[in-house]
Amino acid sequence: MNLSSCKLVAGSQAGSGKADVQDNPASGLVTIGVLAIQGDYAAHASALRESGANAILVRKPEQLRSLDGLIIPGGESTTFLKFLERGSFLADLTAFVHDRPTFGTCAGCILLADEILHPPQDSLAVLHATVERNAYGRQIDSSIEHAASTLPGGPLEMVYIRAPRITKVAPDVQILAERDGFPVLVRQGNLLASTFHPELSEDRRIHVLFVEMVRQAKAGKLRA
Ligand code: GLN
Repeated sequence: MNLSSCKLVAGSQAGSGKADVQDNPASGLVTIGVLAIQGDYAAHASALRESGANAILVRKPEQLRSLDGLIIPGGESTTFLKFLERGSFLADLTAFVHDRPTFGTCAGCILLADEILHPPQDSLAVLHATVERNAYGRQIDSSIEHAASTLPGGPLEMVYIRAPRITKVAPDVQILAERDGFPVLVRQGNLLASTFHPELSEDRRIHVLFVEMVRQAKAGKLRA
């Protein structure tokens, strides 16, 4: 992909907020929200639809109630925090990420982590990981790499934009891919996090994995 086409400015305007297709638990169809405050949420919504899920752009805390899962996209984590700290959004989102599958990419990964460095900042503190913001410095702050992962189908393309680095993970965090010996794609139960932007590549394996995580969590809840 071409990096000049992936500026992290607001994506296209939100849709109506309605699900694309009727939600029917029996068909395994799931509804996944994309936090659409800032960043490249539109690309995530397209990637989710291509991966067989309903996608809804989320701008209000009350929208979280109807979701089976959520993506917190890349952007600027400090800007997300400022917005979320108004009203009940941060509290509602914190409750959500402890209960339902959530995928954080780049700034989203920073928001999920329970320790943030460079500088320290608040977060949803659910992912047992230490994340250093803007760790790859100014000169190489954006790059496209290819690396092996535990997903079948060969190396993954990884688009990094002012990327953070996961410097430490707890034993309950599974490492699915690494860059230079540091985790870049991790899973902890119902949580998935990447320091790169899978929505900006054509490969849909990571979104398909997340949709499957959401399906399984929903099926488990329906059975319980
Ligand atoms: N540098 C941003 C931050 O610290 C993350 C960049 C991104 O999401 N591409 O929040």
